[in-house]
Amino acid sequence: MSVFADLVGQERVVAQLQAAACAADRLVTGEAEGAGGMTHAWLFTGPPGSGRSVAARAFAAALQCERGAGCGHCDDCAQALTGAHPDVAVIVPEGLHLKIKEAREIITRSSRAPTRGRWQVTLIEDADRMEERTSNTLLKAIEEPPPRGVLLLCAPSVEDLLPTIRSRCRLVPLRTPPPEAVASVLVTRDGIDPAMASFAAQAAQGHIGRAKRLATDEETRRERREVLALPRSLQGVGSALAAAEALVATAKEEAAALSVERDAGETESLSRALGAGATGKGMTGGKPKGGAGALKELETRQKDRAKRTQRDALDRALVDLAAFYRDVLQVQLGTGTALVHGDLREQATTIGRATTPESTLRRIDAVLACREALDANVAPLLAVEAMALSLRTG
Ligand SMILES: [Zn+2]
Repeated sequence: MSVFADLVGQERVVAQLQAAACAADRLVTGEAEGAGGMTHAWLFTGPPGSGRSVAARAFAAALQCERGAGCGHCDDCAQALTGAHPDVAVIVPEGLHLKIKEAREIITRSSRAPTRGRWQVTLIEDADRMEERTSNTLLKAIEEPPPRGVLLLCAPSVEDLLPTIRSRCRLVPLRTPPPEAVASVLVTRDGIDPAMASFAAQAAQGHIGRAKRLATDEETRRERREVLALPRSLQGVGSALAAAEALVATAKEEAAALSVERDAGETESLSRALGAGATGKGMTGGKPKGGAGALKELETRQKDRAKRTQRDALDRALVDLAAFYRDVLQVQLGTGTALVHGDLREQATTIGRATTPESTLRRIDAVLACREALDANVAPLLAVEAMALSLRTG
């Protein structure tokens, strides 16, 4: 199976990347002709869950594939996909921003000759989480790329990067996969019951990972129900504030559950590595760190990540809420379009009858304003309280 098999509903992107991988292969094998499809900097854009990092990983594998096109069977393909390939580095900013130190390490790394003789690939997930100073550091590497260095950037949209960077990248725009395509993958790849797959794909609004969690995890479904129960509980100021607090708490819980498991595993393997005399080398192959120092550094990184996970969980909840109010609007306008939260049609209808389309539009705006506030680092509880007050009906 090709390395691109996991990309859902992205036929055009797959064709583009396959052509580029073939061109790259011709460069490596010395046939320069027809190498125009390959370049050093790529920008994968698409909404969260559309598979932009899946696409970037698949492309990284295809570039390393000894058969030249991402066969999915050779060692290079397998190692690149699992993150074990020596010439593929995946950088995930752990905190809210990619640090300038990380950017410098990326540049040093990508200038090294590839150990297996093909490409030195560096993939940066969430490249939008970069401050201007960091972007400028990275820009230097993009302006003068080493002959075999390839930089793959992932971001929600092109506007999330500085114009100087995006103008030097070839664009790979992923679209939100249609619910039918997502449902079909859940059925064929994960063996999920078709009715459940269809519900999860619709409710996840094109987010493939979210769809799978909704289809397979009762806890995720419970949290979703809790979030979507919010509109019914917003009658007065008191209840709105209480609902806001509950929503932030749910996001915290969800993030904590994710973090605890991941942190424990990391701490354990680091402790084990330190116990065995290993040094936990950094990306630049720097000096061995002392055990306590390395553990402390890991702890700081985990704290940064927890903050980010919590913000992401809250944002997820807001996306669900906004979709609920869009459903209410559909019902009010009688458009007959399929609802995102079809299982909650009754609630949407009740609220739709008691309010006006104009007020629904205002509520959708309030949810979007809250997402923007969180993005601008406003304290979560404050932002959600302001939103809940604008959502209330009494
Ligand atoms: Zn291969």
